[in-house]
Amino acid sequence: MALSPEQVCRMLLSVADAIIAAEPQLSQADRDLGDGDHGLGMQRGMEAVKLKLHALTQPYSLEQVLNTTGMAMMSSMGGASGALFGTLFRAGGKALSGHATLGSAELAQFLSAAAAAVMQRGGAKPGDKTLLDSLVPAAEKALESQTLPFTEALNAAAAAAEAGLEASKQMIAQFGRAKTLGPACLGFPDAGAMSICIILRTLANQAGQQPA
Ligand code: ADP
Ligand code: MG
Repeated sequence: MALSPEQVCRMLLSVADAIIAAEPQLSQADRDLGDGDHGLGMQRGMEAVKLKLHALTQPYSLEQVLNTTGMAMMSSMGGASGALFGTLFRAGGKALSGHATLGSAELAQFLSAAAAAVMQRGGAKPGDKTLLDSLVPAAEKALESQTLPFTEALNAAAAAAEAGLEASKQMIAQFGRAKTLGPACLGFPDAGAMSICIILRTLANQAGQQPA
């Protein structure tokens, strides 16, 4: 199974609703370690994504859907995470330029390009207690899963992101406000990694419901 741009657009609208619904949880995670604004920032970003995706006119490409998502986040959220999530979707989308559908190979290309671009943009690496602690393991798992059916590959990537979120509890932050906490941040998961998990888990659940 591979998804058309229209199917990807519908799945991203579900992702937006899932992130908006998770605002209290994301806000709490950022209150534990940061300034507490991650949930509201992501909520604002996803409201903008919904508007822009609804305004897309057919026919549109996979790259356009993903780039529109990134642009909407970048321009509406502000702050570190607006630039980082915007970069994630825009760079991931660019990597799929010319691809008509999203399958397991494209998922791996999307996540790998997204992770590389976020690392370049923000200067963090896995282990620094950022969203990369979910995004990088998800990209690695997707690369290993390229020959699996799409839903299986997406489920495997989501599970890797969730394991990374759990592992982030044992990391000492090297970026953002959490950096000043030192060992006091042990035991708390990273808020941005939590957003990555919600995005991938929602995509995996939605992909499981698409007609083959
Ligand atoms: P801000 O840090 O501006 O308050 P948010 O609270 O919305 O922005 O987002 C915080 C999240 O951004 C963190 O939990 C972390 O996952 C992510 N983050 C912050 N700095 C970086 C970075 N340099 N690289 C990757 N992710 C980062
Ligand atoms: Mg914050």
